[in-house]
Amino acid sequence: MSTCIFCRIVEGSIPAKVVYQDEDTLAFDDITPQAPVHTLVIPKRHVAAVQDLGEADQALLGRLLLTCRKVATEKGLADSGYRIVANTGRDGGQSVFHLHFHVLGGRHLAWPPG
Ligand code: AMP
Repeated sequence: MSTCIFCRIVEGSIPAKVVYQDEDTLAFDDITPQAPVHTLVIPKRHVAAVQDLGEADQALLGRLLLTCRKVATEKGLADSGYRIVANTGRDGGQSVFHLHFHVLGGRHLAWPPG
């Protein structure tokens, strides 16, 4: 069994509120939502962070962003707008080292981030 918490969600050994999935990507609601809509979009294959992606991952990256778009649309954010965030590494505030995009919306999001 994997020690990566998001791999375990992919395996189904940890429960999650799954919003969408396809062959390569999985979307599930964040356990500690920071906005009315807060969904995480991950690759099913383990990749630790954006920094670990390479040229061979172009198609996967496109698929991940299209999944973000699909989640945002299905959650009713297409007109109001939303934010896609990929915290990366220590200074980026990444706490789970399985690549994920946060899809946040349903309220006005301040800028710049803290
Ligand atoms: P980050 O700090 O950018 O690495 O984001 C990790 C996110 O994963 C945080 O927003 C957590 O709330 C979320 N998270 C951690 N464990 C779970 C879980 N079991 N199910 C859903 N979301 C989780």
